[in-house]
Amino acid sequence: MFMIGQGERTVVVGPAESRHCPRCGEERDFLPQLKYSFGEFDLLFGFVYNKRYQLACSECNHGWILDTKTMEAGLERSPIPFHLRYGFVVLLALIAALAMAAYAYRHSS
Ligand SMILES: [Zn+2]
Repeated sequence: MFMIGQGERTVVVGPAESRHCPRCGEERDFLPQLKYSFGEFDLLFGFVYNKRYQLACSECNHGWILDTKTMEAGLERSPIPFHLRYGFVVLLALIAALAMAAYAYRHSS
């Protein structure tokens, strides 16, 4: 069975910082977050799109977009699960391996 799914996740990637929120009109905790959409096949292979880092108010979600390069340089590891980051590469490698095996089989006899 081949199952295809998709979703959206928001992951908190750092400690909260206190800032003045223009929407709440008060001092609030702002959380650095990574928001991304993903698609996956069979829960094993996946890919990520619409990735963006943001600093969001913990009360009203108002916030700023953060620079992806700056954010990723400051992170120890990517908050995106392995199969979503490299799933597509694994899938392509698997297809290539199968194609080569089929080719070798056809030419072996
Ligand atoms: Zn707010």
